[in-house]
Amino acid sequence: MKNGVVIVGAGHAGVQAAASLREEGYDGPVILVSDENELPYHKPPLSKTFIKDQEAKPQPLRGEAFYAGSTIDYRPGIKVDRIDAAAQRLELSGGGALPFDRLILATGSRPRMLPLPGADLSGVVSLRSLADARLIRELSAQSEDVVILGGGFIGLEIAATLKAAGRKVTVVEAVDRLLGRAVAPVIASHVRQRLEAAGARILTGTTIARLEGENGHVSAAVTSSGERLPAQMVIIGIGVVPNVELAQAAGIAIANGIRVDPQMRSSVPEILAIGDAASYRHWFTGADVRLESVQNATDQARLAARTILGHADAFTAVPWFWSDIGDMKLQMVGLTSGGDSHVVLGDLGENKFSIYHYAANRLLGIESVNRPGDHMLGRKMLGAGFSPPPQTVAAGPDALKAALAAFQQDEPARAAG
Ligand SMILES: Cc1cc2nc3c(=O)[nH]c(=O)nc-3n(C[C@H](O)[C@H](O)[C@H](O)COP(=O)(O)OP(=O)(O)OC[C@H]3O[C@@H](n4cnc5c(N)ncnc54)[C@H](O)[C@@H]3O)c2cc1C
Repeated sequence: MKNGVVIVGAGHAGVQAAASLREEGYDGPVILVSDENELPYHKPPLSKTFIKDQEAKPQPLRGEAFYAGSTIDYRPGIKVDRIDAAAQRLELSGGGALPFDRLILATGSRPRMLPLPGADLSGVVSLRSLADARLIRELSAQSEDVVILGGGFIGLEIAATLKAAGRKVTVVEAVDRLLGRAVAPVIASHVRQRLEAAGARILTGTTIARLEGENGHVSAAVTSSGERLPAQMVIIGIGVVPNVELAQAAGIAIANGIRVDPQMRSSVPEILAIGDAASYRHWFTGADVRLESVQNATDQARLAARTILGHADAFTAVPWFWSDIGDMKLQMVGLTSGGDSHVVLGDLGENKFSIYHYAANRLLGIESVNRPGDHMLGRKMLGAGFSPPPQTVAAGPDALKAALAAFQQDEPARAAG
């Protein structure tokens, strides 16, 4: 493969794919193209710490020396404009072209925009990139009142972070609960209670009709019932859309993301897609999904590298995710939608509890608040294909560990029989 592998996007997925190609023994050219002008960095700290600390530095995914040391040709500040799938060639912003033998699309996603009157005022922002985080940090220093549209993970993380930095924060969520359907209602109301206790104002079942400004800068968000919420910064956090346009224009199949098979190949087999931009049929639930998490991006990247090296393993990683909202570390493992019963361990009053979700007596996943041990054990159980009976969960972590050990000990007998 003389033209080697070109990776478009140097986020969590793209950088891991480059590293994994080398780890797996690929010795052809690896070219990593990014439209950002940064050393690739971790995104999760942006909403949790970076925006409240004027001195905080970005956390690089890999040290600068890694790229040259692994013979990875990292090319920042270059946007890929077009894929010529038949000629196996990319057209780049600024006029260049780049041939490839295999292409990995790791283009991620971007914030969903709201067509609101006033959305183009300065001070109206969203958070995806380091550049966005720098802007929010700068605006935060000049803002007393911040309005956040969207009560999902990112919106609530930002709310907690800016509240801790002394801002007056109002979260406006269109539906009647926080965190959509991402977590159980009991977790959503727990998060709400603690954020409100910390001083954030939360309006659910509320939409914003328009944003008002003074001298071109936002000054207020006006709700559809007419309440005027003062704001020197408005952050729009209503979810993301996958960056599929490049693939779509090249005739690659799209279904809520770039559609991939269990080896991460798109409808054009030489072109793979991974991370936030990729959608697939989930091995565990059989549902079509597009997951937005660091774990999903890095595990898919590892698998894509193996596919390119000729392995045929299918994607069977157990999904997990975390979010830090103020003093709550939320950790989720498995996919919990469609559950019909659950078991709760721990104590809401102590801000430490876990919910074990079941469907037809099969463990689907676990959601934890400040119980990292439950989360780690959950990853082991789901990874081993072990579904403990609900009464074993209710007996507590020691009983669960013993049941998992017994299950693993019986593995050879199960495999044989
Ligand atoms: C503020 C924030 C906090 C988060 N917190 C968590 C968390 O706590 N836990 C968790 O699991 N996940 C979290 N996430 C989600 C996680 O960061 C994403 O799931 C992950 O970044 C996906 O990786 P990716 O490589 O697919 O996409 P990205 O990291 O978005 O990288 C895609 C890259 O491709 C570039 N690109 C796109 N198109 C082109 C083009 N045409 N040419 C060149 N380059 C292009 C983009 O600019 C970008 O740099 C968070 C995300 C954000 C924004």
